[in-house]
Amino acid sequence: GRRASSSSSAAPPELPPFDHVPRPYKGMLGDEILRKRQRFLGPSIFYYYQKPLNIVEGKMQYLYDENGKRYLDAIAGIVTVSCGHCHPDVVDAVIEQSKILQHATTIYLHHAIVEFAEALASKMPGNLKVVYVVNSGTEANELAMLMARLYSGNLSMIALRNAYHGGSSGTIGLTALQTWKYPIPQGEIHHVMNPNPYRGAFGSDAVSYAKEVEDHINFGSSGNIAGFIAETFQGAGGAVELAPGYLKLVYDMVRKAGGVCIADEVQSGFGRTGSHYWGFETQGVIPDIVTMAKGIGNGLPLGAVVTTPEIAQVLSKKIQFNTFGGNPVCSAGGLAVLKVIDKEKRQEHCASVGSHLIERLKTLQQKHEIIGDVRGRGLMLGVEFVTDRKEKTPAKAEAAVLLEKLKDLGVLVGKGGLHGNVFRIKPPMCFTKDDADFLVDALDYAISGM
Ligand code: PLP
Repeated sequence: GRRASSSSSAAPPELPPFDHVPRPYKGMLGDEILRKRQRFLGPSIFYYYQKPLNIVEGKMQYLYDENGKRYLDAIAGIVTVSCGHCHPDVVDAVIEQSKILQHATTIYLHHAIVEFAEALASKMPGNLKVVYVVNSGTEANELAMLMARLYSGNLSMIALRNAYHGGSSGTIGLTALQTWKYPIPQGEIHHVMNPNPYRGAFGSDAVSYAKEVEDHINFGSSGNIAGFIAETFQGAGGAVELAPGYLKLVYDMVRKAGGVCIADEVQSGFGRTGSHYWGFETQGVIPDIVTMAKGIGNGLPLGAVVTTPEIAQVLSKKIQFNTFGGNPVCSAGGLAVLKVIDKEKRQEHCASVGSHLIERLKTLQQKHEIIGDVRGRGLMLGVEFVTDRKEKTPAKAEAAVLLEKLKDLGVLVGKGGLHGNVFRIKPPMCFTKDDADFLVDALDYAISGM
């Protein structure tokens, strides 16, 4: 077997076999790309590795670098590649549409946008039937906030601490991680406690966290608010699943205060949680507005806002338009993604592979003190590293070392949390049980060799 033992002299685990030969790469090498990026694309503090990887090809759950080395992609371009890199159905849909018509703005009619919108609306519960097509998660959240303010007639928005909702001047206000925030005016946005079962002051006690929201409405606002936004599973904040029951309590309070409930499903939608198609369903709620991006396009620039016909009415008085939103190519790609998720039963697959993976990670946690928490569901998991389990001191430096070691072993994971001490495991949804075993063996091997 490929299982690694804890002895550092044991052979490193090997990637599962995979039937794909990458093309020989003759393009620009990483060193030169890095030099040019620094010169022409500005400074970046967001490289994952000391020597950033030059990724030249992708196939399903694997990526290849300039030397043809294969990596298991356990973060999917930050939770974006849902069906798999270059999934043939998505590639075909994009190529076919590109040959016929690449662009026609929504001032004309085109079948692709309505086919996509109809398919997306069919996936939504309740009265969430009106779709606005945009190009990113940031744009989706900007539009959602605009709708909430117009519909409620109020300005005050509530978001969670530790949230990430985007990097535009509006959504930077919703975002609540100092890593991402430039100091600009917040514009009537208030942040409430993050109902994080592992780190939050009230553990999994949703009632206490909800009480804090109520206090904020009563004592920190006029009593009338525009809306409340939350990721149902925080992403950049480090794969945090909100305390069970929290959203139900808070949605009731928000609606009583005249506000609109927004679910940011940019990362958690499309079956990734395994148990449900949408993250908010894990909390038993139906939002008034749902925002999406990332996995909706398998890597194409595509986002959406879905709301009720009543709320959508607020945008009938002025022109609501964006040039690329709903372009035929991305719409055709988005439709292909929705079909693949159903055809290949990806939600069910996430449930079964995810439960195997989380079980193995929890077993690994018993072996290694440094693993403070293993959490999540489906293929939406987090592993949090601490130097001290009681104090929960973030193992920042150790996590950085492990990230590099995993890369050398052939596994790319995401990192998250304020201290970068959480590994996010959110691979393309075609990730297999063998991939899961390899990932856990590689993590075991990396920690054992520390
Ligand atoms: N919302 C969440 C939960 C995200 O993770 C992101 C990620 O970047 C965004 C919004 C913003 O999306 P985008 O980067 O497409 O603008």
